[in-house]
Amino acid sequence: MPEGGAGIQAAATAAGGFYTGRTMSTSRQAPTHLRSQALQQRAERYFPGGVNSPVRAFRAVGGAPPFVERAEGAWLTDADGNRYIDYFGSWGPMILGHAFAPVVEAIERAARNSASFGASTAAEADLAERVTACYPAIEKLRFVSSGTEATMSAIRLARAATGRKIVVKFEGCYHGHADGLLVKAGSGVATLGIPGSAGVPEEIAQLTLALPYNDLAAVEAAFAAHPGAIAAVILEPVVGNAGCIVPAPGYLEGLRAVTAREGALLIVDEVMTGFRVALGGACERYGLDPDLVTLGKIVGGGLPVGVFGGKHRYMDLLAPLGPVYQAGTLSGNPLAMAAGLATIGYLQEHRDEVYTRLEVSAKAVAEGVAAEAQQAGVALTLNRVGAMWTWFFTPGPVGNYDEATTSDTAAFGCFHRAMLDRGVWLPPSQFEAAFLSTAHGEAEVQATIAAAREAFAAVKAG
Ligand SMILES: *Cc1c(COP(=O)(O)O)cnc(C)c1O
Repeated sequence: MPEGGAGIQAAATAAGGFYTGRTMSTSRQAPTHLRSQALQQRAERYFPGGVNSPVRAFRAVGGAPPFVERAEGAWLTDADGNRYIDYFGSWGPMILGHAFAPVVEAIERAARNSASFGASTAAEADLAERVTACYPAIEKLRFVSSGTEATMSAIRLARAATGRKIVVKFEGCYHGHADGLLVKAGSGVATLGIPGSAGVPEEIAQLTLALPYNDLAAVEAAFAAHPGAIAAVILEPVVGNAGCIVPAPGYLEGLRAVTAREGALLIVDEVMTGFRVALGGACERYGLDPDLVTLGKIVGGGLPVGVFGGKHRYMDLLAPLGPVYQAGTLSGNPLAMAAGLATIGYLQEHRDEVYTRLEVSAKAVAEGVAAEAQQAGVALTLNRVGAMWTWFFTPGPVGNYDEATTSDTAAFGCFHRAMLDRGVWLPPSQFEAAFLSTAHGEAEVQATIAAAREAFAAVKAG
């Protein structure tokens, strides 16, 4: 068992297909991060901010980001030998826990046959068969290599299918970093978007309309203000990228009805929610039948995979059948297909066991930590759908992005650092959802709640 004083240590043992942890109580010492700090300094020579994706730099919470050396089940081990219970799961994909044996074996087997061919393989249709079985709205699909590519391609398809230009998105929803989707709200529904990043031309941002989430009247007003001009409405069906925000009753059904009536496509971006909030994602959970669906994260089992798919009549507009161009050198990569097949196959075959376990563990840890906040007198709002949730440091409620931004981000930062010191690694921003995996068990849940009790006391002490 590694030393390092994270305070909570677990012996991961395989039991019934799941890893279970065992907690040993030790007196707590602040962990050291000397090797991580040296690695960060070295990384800063090569990468802007020392990272290859900005949130990894911990700017929103302060403190130095630990460098990960390996992970197994629910546990991450850093370069200094500290161990952490993982609540971000590679930002979603690791739903079966880290280094899950069937996934590791599938990748090893595939690698022996060469990493890539740039020609078709049977595995692509094998994974497509599983994906379409889980998502009836996906009649045909394309594999790509990221969620960004998936949403970008879905929008191109929607514009081609409708001959219209404007895309409606919602404030706080993230759909990857394509220009047209990095857009902030203008003022009011008649005003088109403004760039959400330097380098995005106004002319491009103006083709995107950013509206408040959970507000159907705003969508109706947008269609009235731009008659016959809106190609698609794209959304996270449960928001994860502003922290977890739950769709109000009737909201998703309302979006389906208004888009159908107006001849615009409904694109449900399930890159995060797909295979997480249910095997069939939010489409299954809320009984939705969108025109196009995007997937990512879990569908690749930790390797880079994205999916966009939907009705035949739209998908058949793609080259080589139709006039919409889209391509990818590594699309349908054999290693990625193997990891996806092992992951989705396991989820399908152990469906009831998996989603029951995720619900039980997520409910226990999310509500257990929220109860500790209440005990400590820290104002907290818990939003949760299955194994995806956020503890917002605000009295709430949080039903849209503006309400999420009432959170006390300094208090969240203090909580994050106190939890990390106690061996619990939460997503390093108030505006991200936490996840757990089937490898998280009662021991991890109890250890997390115990850590939170101390962390809330640290928040109270300032
Ligand atoms: C992560 C995410 C994306 C972007 O996926 P990448 O693989 O990071 O490009 C798009 N949409 C949603 C909802 C996401 O959560």
